[in-house]
Amino acid sequence: MSASAALDRLAAEVHHDVQARIGEGRVADYIPALARIDPRQFGLALHTCSGETAAVGACRQGFSIQSVSKVFTLTLALGRVGDALWQRVGREPSGSPFNSIVQLEREQGIPRNPLINAGALVVTDAILAGRAPQVAVAEILAYLRELSDDMHIKVDREVAQSEADTGFRNASLANFIKSFGNLVHPVEHVLETYFNQCALRMNCVQLARAGLFLAHGGVDPLTSHRVVDAQAARRINAIMMTCGHYDASGDFAFRVGLPGKSGVGGAILAIAPRQAAVAVWSPGLNAAGNSLVGSLALESLSRRTGWSVF
Ligand code: GLU
Repeated sequence: MSASAALDRLAAEVHHDVQARIGEGRVADYIPALARIDPRQFGLALHTCSGETAAVGACRQGFSIQSVSKVFTLTLALGRVGDALWQRVGREPSGSPFNSIVQLEREQGIPRNPLINAGALVVTDAILAGRAPQVAVAEILAYLRELSDDMHIKVDREVAQSEADTGFRNASLANFIKSFGNLVHPVEHVLETYFNQCALRMNCVQLARAGLFLAHGGVDPLTSHRVVDAQAARRINAIMMTCGHYDASGDFAFRVGLPGKSGVGGAILAIAPRQAAVAVWSPGLNAAGNSLVGSLALESLSRRTGWSVF
């Protein structure tokens, strides 16, 4: 069997493994524009470092990438400010829900890591670099288009507005961080940029393609373009592994064993170092706010391939 036929078969088998569970979990209803999404959907796409691809189910259906965007803004910010970023945000798992505020007071406004909301707001502040929110959002959008090699990616303005209308918790986090002097820009600018980055609309094929550089030491294996240096790529993977699923990061490492980042839109981007990038999407979430069926699919994939980093 050719490598590409074997990959198609793998994707079909994973789909089959989770078929009976599709529809389980609850869609994120705290963002009204996401509450309307039908949970009975599932898509998966894989891009390997040697250029093969496979995709199944609703793999070309667009969704809101939400917190998966934090991986890309972290990459951008590390490229821009380098290690100085670690003065402003930590790299320890929080053991808390994605939007928790409790640690911030004890830790003087330095968020635990860049993949919880508080940390992502600080990262977004670093990306703003004195510019207007629309300029930073345009930069993030252009970055994702380049990484995924697809100019069709857009920001879903309805989702961004829906988050802005109801984002009281994120506004609280941003104000609290600002009170400790750990946001440079006005809170409204940080929030506007953050809500728009979360509202990026992509599909599994685009998302897996965009994450491929993380499986290949920071270089896009298909274009040979260096996105970040090898050390930064290793570190981003390490943070995804330890912090990418909020207070369920340990469970994800236990079950799947791959660096991954989830979003409340139901997507998960997982990285199999030196092998492939995988994107799954299924909108029903588990109690920790991670895609229930998406996690099961990645568990099946790592079991079938042995791609776990452990
Ligand atoms: N935009 C969401 C929020 O800030 C992202 C949360 C997530 O995907 O985990 O609440």
